[in-house]
Amino acid sequence: MSTTDADLIIIGAGPAGLTAAQYGARANLKVLAIEQLAPGGQALLIDVLENYPGNVGVGDAPPKTGFEFSRDLHQQAESFGAVFLTDSVLSLNCEGNLFTLTLGNGETRTAPAVILATGAQHRTLDVPGEAEFSGRGVSYCATCDGPFFRNKKIFVAGGGDAACDEAQYLSRLSSQVVLVHRRSRFRAQKALAERVLRNPNIEVRFNTRIKEIRGEVGNQSGGALSGGSLPVPQKVASVILERTGEDGKGIGGAYEEAADAVFIFAGTVPQTSLVPEAEKDENGYIITDQKMASSVPGLFVAGDVRAGPFRQVVVAAAEGAIAAHCAAEYLDRLNG
Ligand SMILES: Cc1cc2nc3c(=O)[nH]c(=O)nc-3n(C[C@H](O)[C@H](O)[C@H](O)COP(=O)(O)OP(=O)(O)OC[C@H]3O[C@@H](n4cnc5c(N)ncnc54)[C@H](O)[C@@H]3O)c2cc1C
Repeated sequence: MSTTDADLIIIGAGPAGLTAAQYGARANLKVLAIEQLAPGGQALLIDVLENYPGNVGVGDAPPKTGFEFSRDLHQQAESFGAVFLTDSVLSLNCEGNLFTLTLGNGETRTAPAVILATGAQHRTLDVPGEAEFSGRGVSYCATCDGPFFRNKKIFVAGGGDAACDEAQYLSRLSSQVVLVHRRSRFRAQKALAERVLRNPNIEVRFNTRIKEIRGEVGNQSGGALSGGSLPVPQKVASVILERTGEDGKGIGGAYEEAADAVFIFAGTVPQTSLVPEAEKDENGYIITDQKMASSVPGLFVAGDVRAGPFRQVVVAAAEGAIAAHCAAEYLDRLNG
């Protein structure tokens, strides 16, 4: 056995990383998976994972939720011998055939092969009030924050799978869900989009964008230095909406409407900061070959962080399996 900490280190334990961990361990590799939050990644946010092949529920039971699916995937990988560590990877350096990872706790870990499965993070709308009221009515996760807004007026922004999926979830908590999308049709899968359009608790407004989020601001004592009180954002109170043209840009006619919460699903940004040297496409996603190998030898990439046409759990899982399989082949070649 080598003197490195693992044969294969996986960064990120969403569906791609979890599946890679399972396949790597089953290929008899010493696998270490490092996850900064909880195993599952974005899949933890999925209400009912009804489009994963075979996830149909047993008897009258519904299909597994994203949380249940992630829990089972994690247990499955551990049962085959993959080891999980909770920490964030701060840097990834490669010298010769050895990768050295520096963790948030200051320690390092080494391996001759790495799978980057860091996924993607939500994009912001970048409108006034968004950052100010984040956590005070502005949210990027319906399953996390939706229950705080039961029977309240909720705006959802976006037109892809995440926006439609989360609007569906919120519509079970409130009959006043307004889904605004700056285009004239959804990007989401057809079945999901049609369900949203039929849902009596969701009002869909196409060609509309949120221009600003307004709210109540209270005062807090500023202490001796400021000698007065500081304005502190309390909660969302309204949104400024604007009509949009075919290009999705505002065309005026802004109006204000009362709101208790704003859930934003405006797309995602690939998490690639650990590998500035890896080749990327024009949108910043990492380019690989069919074996999930990046332009950096020994660095494989899987899931939402990889340049590909479709970002779903089934795709991430499949790419994780291919990456682990091909990383094992790479290690065989390396060890002669
Ligand atoms: C609300 C919502 C609903 C969705 N609904 C569906 C659906 O119904 N069906 C479907 O198939 N797909 C759905 N998706 C998409 C699906 O969840 C993603 O395609 C999938 O999770 C991508 O998996 P991944 O492993 O590539 O990345 P992610 O799930 O993003 O996981 C990446 C992981 O890497 C970790 N990480 C990142 N950087 C570091 C670091 N430096 N150190 C350590 N860890 C790190 C993150 O914490 C995260 O856990 C939905 C997504 C959202 C947000």
